[in-house]
Amino acid sequence: MRPFPAKPGPWGTPVLLGIPLDQNSSYLRGPARAPKLIREALQSDAWNLTTETRVDLATPGLWEDAGDLTDMHADSYGRIETAIGAILDAGKRPLCLGGDHSVTYPILRAVGARMKDVTLVHFDAHPDLYVNFEGNPHSHASPFARILENRLAKRLIQIGVRTLNAHQAEQAKKFGVEIFEMVAMPDPVALKLAAPIYVSFDMDALDPAFAPGVSHWEPGGMTTREALHYLQALPGPIIGADLVELNPTRDEKGFTATVAAKILKELLGKMIVG
Ligand code: MN
Ligand code: MN
Repeated sequence: MRPFPAKPGPWGTPVLLGIPLDQNSSYLRGPARAPKLIREALQSDAWNLTTETRVDLATPGLWEDAGDLTDMHADSYGRIETAIGAILDAGKRPLCLGGDHSVTYPILRAVGARMKDVTLVHFDAHPDLYVNFEGNPHSHASPFARILENRLAKRLIQIGVRTLNAHQAEQAKKFGVEIFEMVAMPDPVALKLAAPIYVSFDMDALDPAFAPGVSHWEPGGMTTREALHYLQALPGPIIGADLVELNPTRDEKGFTATVAAKILKELLGKMIVG
């Protein structure tokens, strides 16, 4: 059995930041309402705050909550980039709650300006590599195209994909994206990942049986356990992360918010102990 308590690593404090933006969603809106609900689920009396890696998140000072950005319709990308830059410049590490997946591009603009050789580990049913989607180059289906065009990461590894089409396969080839579709899930150790690692977790990576509260139901996905296994197997330290695409309008009983809070809890634990 792992010993209690786990010893925190020497890296900067994780800072939770809500980014309630969903104007770049397609098909449905809703993820702007997610950050508040994920926080409430994390703090629910239904469970305790000790992670599977033996980190008690109730311990003061282990992590911080910077609240939510507001007024996401005015210069939202500039304000996201500034907020993330401020967290990084304070020697801390951002953990963002979306919002739709478009937020990952402005987050990476701040990260990529300060860190070279970032490896992006991206969990998603979708590659999100469209040049543009329905005419919107900032669509939640396009952030990783923008990130790679602007050379904001060295390596992009996608896990859980099950919607690859010819256009996005072409984009993946152009940028050297390492896509692991659901039919060919890799051994996390065989990926030979090296720090610094940034994790982007789209809730629809999970099978809708586990996480129905997302806009784009895509059956055949990961179990919650498989996702946690991958997260826990990543080599630390994780320099930043986002958890995106929870859509509360499809989550009447709050079950998917609890699954998102579980992912958040273990991500925080992973960021703290490495
Ligand atoms: Mn996505
Ligand atoms: Mn997705």
